[in-house]
Amino acid sequence: MSTPPLRLFFALPCPDAVRVPLCAWREKLVIDGQPVAAANLHLTLVFLGAVPRARKAELLALGASMPRTPFELHLDNLLLWRNGILHLAPSTLPEALPSLVHSLREALQACQFEVEHRTFRAHLTLARHCRRLPDATADFAWPARELVLYSSENGPHGTHYHAIGRWPLDGEEVSRAPAAPTP
Ligand code: ATP
Ligand code: MG
Repeated sequence: MSTPPLRLFFALPCPDAVRVPLCAWREKLVIDGQPVAAANLHLTLVFLGAVPRARKAELLALGASMPRTPFELHLDNLLLWRNGILHLAPSTLPEALPSLVHSLREALQACQFEVEHRTFRAHLTLARHCRRLPDATADFAWPARELVLYSSENGPHGTHYHAIGRWPLDGEEVSRAPAAPTP
């Protein structure tokens, strides 16, 4: 029997300093859908979908090669898409965010991973299957300090994300493996 593939995505994890006030704020909203579990709050950068387990090492190397520019996000727009996704989005994007998504997509494509070509839309999903946009305002400052590769797993208590790679966005130069000597 072959091993099942992993279901993977690169994301920014929601820092605890944001998660706690954000969940307290969300609890006060009248939400007519299914809230995302507090532990699962994140901002997806690139969704990979099913990936053979044998390719995990390639993705870990790729994650380590990404730029490490830290940045600040301001989630200040509460929106509802027609597909029922209630989310917070930043009204302005710090340049480092689309730049990180671009670097990920390029590197993934170069390694023959299938990536989306749709325009990146930064959003933090708060709840799914919603029909009504709650009347509320928000402005959460989110210091993005970590890039994470998650495996999405279905368990008895619902979907669980397991971090299989973590890289700090600490402003350090990315250390690359030395080039192989030319013969
Ligand atoms: P579940 O689907 O089990 O209810 P989930 O949506 O949180 O839970 P996944 O479907 O594994 O878990 O998705 C992980 C992340 O990838 C989420 O941010 C989700 O919105 C995003 N995602 C899932 N499918 C796609 C897709 N086809 N294109 C872009 N992003 C996707
Ligand atoms: Mg899903």
